[in-house]
Amino acid sequence: MSYPLPTTLTPSKITKFMSCPLAFRFSYLDHLPEPASPHLVRGTLVHKALELLLATARPSDRTRERAFAALDDAWSRLADGDIASLGLDDAGRATFRREAEALVTRYFAVEDPSAVRPVGIELDLRVELDGVELRGIIDRLDRLDSGDLVVVDYKTGRAPRAEHARSRMIGVHFYALLCEQVLGRAPSEVRLVYLRDPVVVSEAPSAQTLRGIRQRAGAVWRAIERACDQDDFRPSPSRLCPSCAFRAHCPAFGGDPAHARPAPGPTAVAEVAPLAG
Ligand code: SF4
Repeated sequence: MSYPLPTTLTPSKITKFMSCPLAFRFSYLDHLPEPASPHLVRGTLVHKALELLLATARPSDRTRERAFAALDDAWSRLADGDIASLGLDDAGRATFRREAEALVTRYFAVEDPSAVRPVGIELDLRVELDGVELRGIIDRLDRLDSGDLVVVDYKTGRAPRAEHARSRMIGVHFYALLCEQVLGRAPSEVRLVYLRDPVVVSEAPSAQTLRGIRQRAGAVWRAIERACDQDDFRPSPSRLCPSCAFRAHCPAFGGDPAHARPAPGPTAVAEVAPLAG
């Protein structure tokens, strides 16, 4: 049996395939459901609150009070879906809410939102390149006074140690490549905004970096094509295994991938899971 290819290649798919081809198969090809995680739902909630703050408030109105009102709005939008799926009791919901409020508060420690000039929020870019459709949804694309573009990606997990920082930039460099291909111009800077710590990690994407990202995307796509054609998705045990939703089907943990049964359709978590975390 061979698998049909995914229709697009995203940073999340690249990261998943590179970290474990079998987990990639379970997530993106079998569409096995993944249980809701407080970490991912909190990230979705805070992303939505910042999106609403910057999309609906004039720069001078982007205050903490307005940010908390945006969090209220985001909460009400997710309350019956993602938040309810966590199954939290009243105390758990209160803690979850406080943690989201803390992330929104810390946002003001890394950035002055009244000085931000977004030209795109949740910007969905796609381009056909080297035989594959690359796709990315950029948290925010800013234009500086100089006219330069800046890609901004929020992270709600911990910032990596220095030795791992560069590998975490793959997603934003992928977005820079999309900007270059779709908008005709690469950003002068890509930024990861870690809200928990809070700290900003930024780089200037060079032409060489973007060439490298393009080559890497092509190489991963060819590996996915081979794996799909030969139905050969191998487990790659790592420190990520303890939090993997698919251990019951994984041979590294005594499971049998053949027993994995596709769900009717893709889950939201599987499709939108950020490189984040
Ligand atoms: S448990 Fe580990 S090796 Fe198995 S599918 Fe998940 S990430 Fe891959």
